[in-house]
Amino acid sequence: MSIKIALAGNPNCGKTTLFNALTGSNQFVGNWPGVTVEKKEGKLKGHKDVIIMDLPGIYSLSPYTLEEVVARNYLIGERPDAILNIVDGTNIERNLYLSTQLMELGIPVIMAINMMDIVEKNGDKIHISKLSQKLGCEVVEISALKGTGISQAAEKAVALANGKKNTVPVHKFQAELESVLDSIEEKLGNDVPEEQKRFFAIKLLEKDSKIETQLKRVPDVSEEITLIEREMDDDTESIITNERYVYISSIINECYTRSKRDKLTISDKIDRIVTNRFLALPIFAAIMFLVYYASVTTVGGWATDWTNDNLFGEGFSFFGLDVPGIPVIAENILVAVGCADWLQGLILDGIIAGVGAVLGFVPQMLVLFIFLAFLESCGYMARVAFIMDRIFRKFGLSGKSFIPMLIGSGCGVPGIMASRTIENDRDRKMTIMTTTFIPCSAKLPIIALISGALFGGAAWVAPSAYFVGIAAIICSGIILKKTKIFSGDPAPFVMELPAYHMPTVENILRSMWERGWSFIKKAGTIILLATIVVWFTSYFGWVDGQFRLLDTLELDHSILAAVGSTISWLFAPLGWGNWKAAVAAITGLIAKENVVGTFGILYGFAEVAEDGSEIWGTLAGSMTSIAAYSFLVFNLLCAPCFAAMGAIKREMNSARWFWYAVGYQTLLAYVVALCVYQIGTLITTGSFGVFTIVAFALIAGFIFLLVRPGKDSKVSKANFKSVAGAK
Ligand code: GDP
Ligand code: MG
Repeated sequence: MSIKIALAGNPNCGKTTLFNALTGSNQFVGNWPGVTVEKKEGKLKGHKDVIIMDLPGIYSLSPYTLEEVVARNYLIGERPDAILNIVDGTNIERNLYLSTQLMELGIPVIMAINMMDIVEKNGDKIHISKLSQKLGCEVVEISALKGTGISQAAEKAVALANGKKNTVPVHKFQAELESVLDSIEEKLGNDVPEEQKRFFAIKLLEKDSKIETQLKRVPDVSEEITLIEREMDDDTESIITNERYVYISSIINECYTRSKRDKLTISDKIDRIVTNRFLALPIFAAIMFLVYYASVTTVGGWATDWTNDNLFGEGFSFFGLDVPGIPVIAENILVAVGCADWLQGLILDGIIAGVGAVLGFVPQMLVLFIFLAFLESCGYMARVAFIMDRIFRKFGLSGKSFIPMLIGSGCGVPGIMASRTIENDRDRKMTIMTTTFIPCSAKLPIIALISGALFGGAAWVAPSAYFVGIAAIICSGIILKKTKIFSGDPAPFVMELPAYHMPTVENILRSMWERGWSFIKKAGTIILLATIVVWFTSYFGWVDGQFRLLDTLELDHSILAAVGSTISWLFAPLGWGNWKAAVAAITGLIAKENVVGTFGILYGFAEVAEDGSEIWGTLAGSMTSIAAYSFLVFNLLCAPCFAAMGAIKREMNSARWFWYAVGYQTLLAYVVALCVYQIGTLITTGSFGVFTIVAFALIAGFIFLLVRPGKDSKVSKANFKSVAGAK
């Protein structure tokens, strides 16, 4: 029989650090079923039969945020054998709020006060034995970072789990509880085990709306509640919240001695500069420039270019030794074994070229992830969120959304993956949906093509593309925020400013690898499949009534061309309803820079320059400049490349949300491109038709969606008001 121990605590209290220290490399990382919350499970070092769960960081067991729901469902549903409650010793007061709730679950609890290294450095004292006595559970002091006391804490948790001695909270609202408890006992009968009744009684008193999902039969206790409320002249939810805080402050008074210090800590001093009203933004811009410069332009850029040009290209020389690139090796092998033409094509032009292009991003991403992991774990990311939050809240995003978007201007894939640093589920989903609106570096050739071919290389075209991207993000934020899916009770907002510190190399590398690996896995599955499909459709087709393998320049006979002709009418209202443009847009799904190469092939060039200068003239002859701009806008905003779609699928962790995101992007792209073309031609040529009316209707609808009043949902005020007051 294995023992399950759950690590529970506030965000940033050090759960993951402790989890890593306790489990080492015995970890399984995945997602909680159907949601975007990461799930980590591992075996305790030296104990094959002890499983440790790293629960999401939460502030309470009330089901306000997805993280809270996940953690709570696990605790109630799976009932681990013991809970190791991690408490940030530098922030005991706020952390104890969750502790008071954990102890009500009827599961054995042991409390580990973490960050003791900082507490000691500050000269503060925590009276462990007194705390333990007041709380009614064992308390130990640890430093997850330094590794002190952690194995003892784990041993004690194992012993506690084996002993099955439930923690019975020393209750703060005994009187209220008793009155409800009696009738609950009666009504619930044997449906609910004895040790859980107390917990459910409290949840009923707290008027917890999600309680139905946990209780098969919800007893009606409205009578008791009315009685209590009449007596105390307050609602039971507030009564309980209040008493929790009264109880916590009594504990703090007795068990915690703050050293007499009026000098600022180092963290405070750094924050004075870093979050300063005038300096914050310039400092942030400088740091981000450095990160971006290092990971996209220089180090990461070189590594990625090297991978693409050498490893997945011609090859390279290694200490005087000529090492051929992967495609060269593969080609030699395939020729040597006398492999059929079509199979050679599939492997070389399809799989290796397609998956290679995607894997080429890996070095760049790893460099970026190192920087991100550093900024995250040293504590700076929390400040960034703090600085940007006020601006981003206005259009429904969080301060942390800024980072994915910035990274997304280099490549959407790491951009989308950087959204993991956003704890709140709704903010994260919204960020994932909008990040790829920012033109990534692979879209720049399309911009260069259109600007060169139809606008004489005008300087305004490129900036206008970024402007369109930013406007799409802002408008989407405002519109989506008001939709039913994204409305509902927002999470109580608590800004977390942990003390600055030097992260460990191990933790940074681990975080980098976890993110990198999940991307590589994606490239191996969904992207592989997609490239095979597109390869097949572009290299097979009918020539003179005969179905066969095609040459590169015969693309216009391919299945893809047939598909392009079949759907090109869809794009007629957008001004570019010809099959060549439709095919270019489809191949852009493999990688956006393919759009230029595809036009090149369709116009009879096997290879064109990056900006496609060879075909400018032909392209200019085939569409008007307004149509070309509409084509540009569509390709900027529509579903991103397969790699980025893979990242969206991975991060959303739900097929429904994936389609919702990609569908929204493509729909928005279609609507904007249609309006650009229709209104543009109305202004330039005065032509007016059915679709001009449609465009006006769409614009009116769009404006309505932007300005309609949102369902500004009620913020749960009972919670956390006292936290703010306590400071
Ligand atoms: P989680 O959000 O609860 O998983 O917290 P993490 O494990 O990610 O830790 C948050 C931050 O606190 C990280 O940067 C850790 O390096 C740091 N940290 C964790 N434990 C300790 C500790 O005992 N002492 C100090 N000084 N820092 C710690
Ligand atoms: Mg964590």
